[in-house]
Amino acid sequence: MNNSDIADILKAYADLSELHGGNPFKIKSFAAASFRIDKLPIPLANKSIAELEAIDGVGKSIAKVVYEIAQHNRFPELEELIANTPEGVRDIMRIKGIGPKKVAVIWKEMQIETIGELLYACKENRLAQFKGFGLKTQEAVIKQIEFMFASANKFHYAKAQPIAASVFGFIQQCETYESASLCGHIRRGFEVLESMDILIATDNEEAFMQELSSLLNQSILTNQFTYLGYPIHVYFSTPDAFAWELFRLSSDTKHAEKILARIGSPIPEVRDEEEIYEVANLPYINPVLRDNRNEIELAEQGKLPELVEYGDLKGPLHNHSTWSDGLNTISEMATWCYKQGFEYLGMADHSKSAFYAKGLNEERVLAQQEEIKKLNLTWKDFRIFAGIECDILYDGNLDYDNSILKTFDYVVASVHSILKMTEEKAMERLLKAIENPYTTILGHPTGRLLLMREGYPINHHKIIDACAANNVVIELNANPYRLDMDWRYIDYALEKGVMISINPDAHELEGFLDMHWGIVAAQKGGLYKEMCFNAKSALELDTWFKKKRG
Ligand SMILES: [Zn+2]
Ligand SMILES: [Zn+2]
Repeated sequence: MNNSDIADILKAYADLSELHGGNPFKIKSFAAASFRIDKLPIPLANKSIAELEAIDGVGKSIAKVVYEIAQHNRFPELEELIANTPEGVRDIMRIKGIGPKKVAVIWKEMQIETIGELLYACKENRLAQFKGFGLKTQEAVIKQIEFMFASANKFHYAKAQPIAASVFGFIQQCETYESASLCGHIRRGFEVLESMDILIATDNEEAFMQELSSLLNQSILTNQFTYLGYPIHVYFSTPDAFAWELFRLSSDTKHAEKILARIGSPIPEVRDEEEIYEVANLPYINPVLRDNRNEIELAEQGKLPELVEYGDLKGPLHNHSTWSDGLNTISEMATWCYKQGFEYLGMADHSKSAFYAKGLNEERVLAQQEEIKKLNLTWKDFRIFAGIECDILYDGNLDYDNSILKTFDYVVASVHSILKMTEEKAMERLLKAIENPYTTILGHPTGRLLLMREGYPINHHKIIDACAANNVVIELNANPYRLDMDWRYIDYALEKGVMISINPDAHELEGFLDMHWGIVAAQKGGLYKEMCFNAKSALELDTWFKKKRG
């Protein structure tokens, strides 16, 4: 169990306790402890009660609770609260913007016990009429519920990929098929999926399903089933039709229609997908691009991008160390990157306003830069860049004076606080930050968390125009929950000459691997090596940074 799991449990207790009118002091201390623990850089799972008690903000009684949770997965008081709360009411608790006190009114006074009932009440304008709610809250609740409904039964690409790979591994042990491939949205690299699709060429579907069923050690009755909770959809074709089926199942419908129209009838027999594009008189189009945007036109003109690959990356530029809320030291992170064959590591710890993440005040900024300078003396063919992830304050200013900003090699400017903004406010804030001469990279432009938080509204085209005018790079945050900027705007950025940086936002060594997810999203947006900022060499970056600082 990691810290964030423990924090979630403490928070759940605080919220449910408040819902049931529990002791306000106790509620406050649990909520505060949850917040603290979530941001702690050291894992708590194996700490003794005494060690837990020593943590600032974790008192005697909470230390005991944390110990029980971590060691025995037990928290009887929470279990009791859960047992006394209808499941639908717990769902209502998940709606952002209405805290436990308001949920208590909805449940006890309005006698609403499910999200569906609540939505209905909102549509009838009943919530707005209740004391303490108002029209604004009601509208926000409707929006939230609709978002939750739309997100149900969906999952992140990064969660699905390893599971699909392991099912595929089992399939490869089967003997009753000729060819197999992932297809559908997972093959097309969508960031959010509803099922994992696999195409099988076989003459005996039944025998194949039986074989797979026994290998997966579960009884599978149809070609749609779940594995480890994730929906799998197996499609079948005859061996002769495999290439055509794979093409059809891995392309947007319109894309497939256009290709078929180019070929005309009769439809020829083909060995593989490559040959389909050959007979359509086009270069091969990668499934990640088959979205019926402008890929066929680009292919016709010979302008299909040669998509950026993981191997093109020369280093990660947005990362956190133990100086702020990361788990590893700069030296550990640098060693990892060096061993991967990267040319550099860019440190971008949090700035001072991010106090919850141990953001660096001016004094610590300079101390960190000293450490980086010293570490850089120990490498010959590797370089650590001293950057910062600088908060964009509510008024659009950056979080330090120019005297400090100019000491960094580069600045990733990101919004972390007060994410609830109108488009007008968000644009004003971001544009001001982009125009700041010290901003090198715009970090996670919308603040979205896929399937969890929508992100503030922005006009992507105007943001990209401003980045072009101010020579600012845009981040594609590679965390699979973010993948922000959205790949759908990469083509516009490329058109305007704005470079994209695939940033892992790593808070520990494993986090670097998120760049794999960033690569998929970048490919989907048609990004190529020359426009990928962190595919530049250390020397090129150094020159770029210096030029930007003036
Ligand atoms: Zn950030
Ligand atoms: Zn970050």
